[in-house]
Amino acid sequence: NNLEGKVAMVTGAGSGIGLATAQLLARRGASVVLSDIDQESVKKATEELIQNGMTAAYFKADTSSLEAHEAMMVFIMEKFGRLDIAVNNAGIGSKFEKTAEVSAQDWQKVIDINLTGVFYGMKTQIPAMMKSSGGSIVNIASILGQVGFLGAAAYIASKHGVVGLTKAGALDHASDKIRVNAIGPGFIYTGLVNEETMGKEAITDLEQKHALHRLGTPEEVAALCAFLASDEASFITGSYYPVDGGYLAM
Ligand code: NAD
Repeated sequence: NNLEGKVAMVTGAGSGIGLATAQLLARRGASVVLSDIDQESVKKATEELIQNGMTAAYFKADTSSLEAHEAMMVFIMEKFGRLDIAVNNAGIGSKFEKTAEVSAQDWQKVIDINLTGVFYGMKTQIPAMMKSSGGSIVNIASILGQVGFLGAAAYIASKHGVVGLTKAGALDHASDKIRVNAIGPGFIYTGLVNEETMGKEAITDLEQKHALHRLGTPEEVAALCAFLASDEASFITGSYYPVDGGYLAM
C-alpha cells in the first residue's frame, strides 16, 4: 500500500484504462476521485470501491471544459483537502478517415478532448499540487503519440501533442516538485477497442502488430500508471513510457 495518505484523481474513470487505474490506486491506499463525462459509470465504480472498504468519490466532468476542471478541483479540495496524483486519461478515438477527408469539426472534437482536455487538467492540477508537497501527473497518450497509423490523423496529432505537453509541464514545474510523465499504451482491449467497435478481423490484425501477438489489458496499463504516480518513481519525469506488448519494437 505505497499510496497510503495520497489523494488521486483519474479522468475517464468510468471504463477501460481509467477504471482499472482508479481501482488500483484505491487498492494501494490512495483516496481516489473518479471523474467521467458519464456519471452513471463513475457512480457505480465509486460505490463498489467504498463497499470494499476503500476511499473514493465521483465527479461528473467533461474534460474539454476548463470550468468543469475548476469545479472538480473545488470538489477535491473540499472533500479531501489536497491533491497528490492526477491521471489525465479521458480520450476518444477518431473516425477512420484519410487526413484530407477529416472534417474541421471532427478534428476539433478530438483535439478538444484528447489534447486540450489534458492541458486544462494540468492547468488546474498543478496549482492544487503546489499547495501541498508537489505531486505526480500521468498523462495517457498512446503508441500513436510516437508513430503514425492509417486513417487516424486527429488522434495521432492529439497524442503526439500530449507527449510534448508532458515534457513542457515536467520542465516548467520540476522546481515545484511536480513530476509529469506520459504512458503510451499499445492496443488495449477496452470500450474503445473491441470486436464490436472494430470488427473481429481488425482485432486479429491488430494482435499481429504486437510482438506478444495479443492486445493488452487495462490492468497492464494501470500497473505502470500506479508506479509512475508513486514516490518509487521519484527520479522519473518528462518521459514517455510505452506499455505496448512490443508494438514499437516491430
Ligand atoms: P474507454 O472508452 O473504455 O474509456 C474512456 C472513458 O473516457 C469513458 O468512460 C468515457 O466516458 C470517458 N470520456 C470520453 N470523453 C470524455 C470527456 N470529454 N470527458 C470526460 N470523460 C470522457 O477507452 P480506453 O481505451 O480506456 O481509453 C482511455 C485512454 O487510453 C484514452 O485517452 C485513449 O486514447 C487511450 N488509449 C487507449 C488505447 C486502447 O487501445 N484502448 C490505446 C492507447 C491509448
